[in-house]
Amino acid sequence: MQEVFDWADYVVVGSGIGSAAFAASAIKNHKKVLILECGDWPLRDDEDWNPKSILIQGRYTNNPLHPKVFANQYSRKRADTVLTRPIVGGMSVFYGGAAFRLREADFTNWPKDCDYQQMEPYYGKAEKLMNVHGNDQLDPTRPFRSTPLKPAILPSKPAIRIQSAAKSLGLSPFAIPLAINFSKCELCNTCDGFACKVEAKIDAATILKSLKGDNLKIITSCFVDKLHFDGDQLSSIDCKFKPNEPCQNFTVKKLFLGAGTIGSAALMLKSTQPGVQFPSYEQFGRNLMRHANAIVGALFTVRTNPEQVFSKQTVIADFYEDFRKQSGFATGVIQDIYTPDSSVVRHYAPKGFRLAASILSPFIQNLLCVSEDEPQLTNRIELGAGGQIKVNHEYTTGDLERLNHLIDKAKMVLKKAGGFFPKVMKIDSFSHAVASLRMGVAPQNSATDTNGKVWGIKNLWAIDGSILPASGGVNPSLTIAANAIRIAENVGKQNEAK
Ligand SMILES: Cc1cc2nc3c(=O)[nH]c(=O)nc-3n(C[C@H](O)[C@H](O)[C@H](O)COP(=O)(O)OP(=O)(O)OC[C@H]3O[C@@H](n4cnc5c(N)ncnc54)[C@H](O)[C@@H]3O)c2cc1C
Ligand code: SF4
Repeated sequence: MQEVFDWADYVVVGSGIGSAAFAASAIKNHKKVLILECGDWPLRDDEDWNPKSILIQGRYTNNPLHPKVFANQYSRKRADTVLTRPIVGGMSVFYGGAAFRLREADFTNWPKDCDYQQMEPYYGKAEKLMNVHGNDQLDPTRPFRSTPLKPAILPSKPAIRIQSAAKSLGLSPFAIPLAINFSKCELCNTCDGFACKVEAKIDAATILKSLKGDNLKIITSCFVDKLHFDGDQLSSIDCKFKPNEPCQNFTVKKLFLGAGTIGSAALMLKSTQPGVQFPSYEQFGRNLMRHANAIVGALFTVRTNPEQVFSKQTVIADFYEDFRKQSGFATGVIQDIYTPDSSVVRHYAPKGFRLAASILSPFIQNLLCVSEDEPQLTNRIELGAGGQIKVNHEYTTGDLERLNHLIDKAKMVLKKAGGFFPKVMKIDSFSHAVASLRMGVAPQNSATDTNGKVWGIKNLWAIDGSILPASGGVNPSLTIAANAIRIAENVGKQNEAK
């Protein structure tokens, strides 16, 4: 197998949206890319749209190659299990396809040579790669763009209900930019949280499938367990193909970490130690950001989505800058989000309320609040006993203040739309996690330079969500993809210059 590693110009760990965008750009520039992914391809069968299979039975979870991940959060006494679904395409396979650009003001928390002006062309390239449709003309915080989006589709009935309520409150709702191929899309209600059976959602797996050719090889069921170094060079990596068998070692020329915000930081922590060789060691895994997210649901007197159509279509960004001056962070956005199937609502409702919850679920409409949380050194990824990964995360008072502000506004919109008895559910997944190996200008406060190159090591980069220096107040995938394309181009130019 060493021949495949020798064949590759670039070896990439993991196959999420950062890796897929990086590979697309590198291949365009005639580089040979080898991707090592611990999961397998999505199956794209009926079960992928079965709420019970995906949301209750946990299809795609429990990969024996991937370590278990636990989180201490919300000051809870017991650690929560963090859901991992190792798969070709990573989390993007299950994402909602919302593909936002950060706003210009968000880049005040990024290094100066990576401001919005620098990123703008790469956003355009990422939007083209991900086939993004939208209409941001009504967005009060829209950043400058040099390339247009493909037109948004017409809103569904649940989306119209939210849009009308928001407009009558004087707000400016607009279409969520969506990475979907609408010529294939069936506008179903099993999109966010599900793999797309018909491959209409543009996730990292659909991108990689479209790239398959002479310059891309993907090895699945391959977990990269450890990196080895020789002075300032990464020399080889250990790969595990079967859970109870020893790792195999391969030499590598250039390695790119795309194992995700938790996976890439965990791999660095497992493979390094403090010292001059790794001047940014103390930064590995720290400053984890994940957004402060919550769902606000309200009851209606009518079925909110009787035709069970796709409803993640509307976003309200009017409050985005409300706390910028006092905190320096984005208050974020409110988006519509589907109500899960009644079997799922019943399964997760507290005991004693299960029957009532499942009967009422068709009458519920939900809004998702996404606000920016602050980077903190203590919010970090660590290695636990027996190879487990531990995540520690607590919100600041400011984080909760911004989130609660959005929650109040979401309740206001739902009330105007005819909803009552609003209920708030905190989201405790790490689905929007970023910044655990953040980019920066010095190893004292960042893990990598502004091209994602790990400080002190000549041939090791990170290209996924882990290197975003700050999350802004919108969903991260498009920014991860744009940044990965930027790095692919810059690394390519540096090679040519040598
Ligand atoms: C339900 C859900 C809905 C979401 N909706 C949206 C949305 O609408 N819009 C949006 O922008 N974002 C959304 N997100 C977030 C978005 O999906 C992620 O931020 C993004 O996909 C992360 O991409 P990544 O490249 O950082 O890596 P990941 O997606 O984390 O991929 C990492 C890959 O590396 C593999 N891996 C890990 N460790 C190893 C190892 N050691 N060896 C080999 N392989 C390894 C994993 O199996 C995985 O495939 C959503 C997420 C979820 C879960
Ligand atoms: S709404 Fe469209 S893109 Fe989403 S899962 Fe259904 S068919 Fe796929």
